[in-house]
Amino acid sequence: MKDQLKLLWELQKIDLDLKTIKEEKERYPKDIKKLDEKQKIEKERIQKEREKVESLEKTRRQKEGHLNTEQEKIKRAEGRMSEVKTNKEYQALLSEIDAMKGANSRIEEEILQVMDEIDELKKGLSKREKEVGVTLEKIEAERRKLEEQVAYDEKIWNEQMERREVLSKQIESKLFKLYNTLKEKRHGVGVVNVRNETCQGCFVNVPPQMFIEVQKNNALIRCPNCNRILYWDGDGKKK
Ligand SMILES: [Zn+2]
Repeated sequence: MKDQLKLLWELQKIDLDLKTIKEEKERYPKDIKKLDEKQKIEKERIQKEREKVESLEKTRRQKEGHLNTEQEKIKRAEGRMSEVKTNKEYQALLSEIDAMKGANSRIEEEILQVMDEIDELKKGLSKREKEVGVTLEKIEAERRKLEEQVAYDEKIWNEQMERREVLSKQIESKLFKLYNTLKEKRHGVGVVNVRNETCQGCFVNVPPQMFIEVQKNNALIRCPNCNRILYWDGDGKKK
């Protein structure tokens, strides 16, 4: 029985390992998805700022185009100055030119404002681009780490499955069946250590006499409370 219990205890450790790996395997796609989302948000943040700069550049070009047209008009009006016959016509043309010049200087003012805004945005943008670059690198590093972890888990999983296969064959089928049933009912734990006279599965005390028996690992003893098979794996102080 001693050997059987020891084998069962080894099997339990493997099964717990497999359970952890299984949980990790289920978590990885979610973690990867989270990284993808983070990456997307960072990229979009920059994209919006770039679009803002582009739209302001467009506004600036439009205003400059408009200014050119107006300046041409002024030139043409000035050209007409020599052709006017009367003083009244002359005054009218003069005030028309003045009005156009006034409007143009307002456009020039607006262009300067837009250019200031563009400069300011570009300064912020290049700073942000550096920040996002660093963040994206970190995300990539996390992704590589995750992928390494996935590969490592896959390797451990296969190794433990093989060991499980070998061990399972060495355990008496009745005991193996009992273990599997308990494991299914008790959150993956069928065999459990006893420490300080306490079942480490349900944390309820076992009777003192039972505790003495359990420490011998000579018989199949089950927790009176949770029914799990009890095993003595030392008091944990040596390890
Ligand atoms: Zn128990």
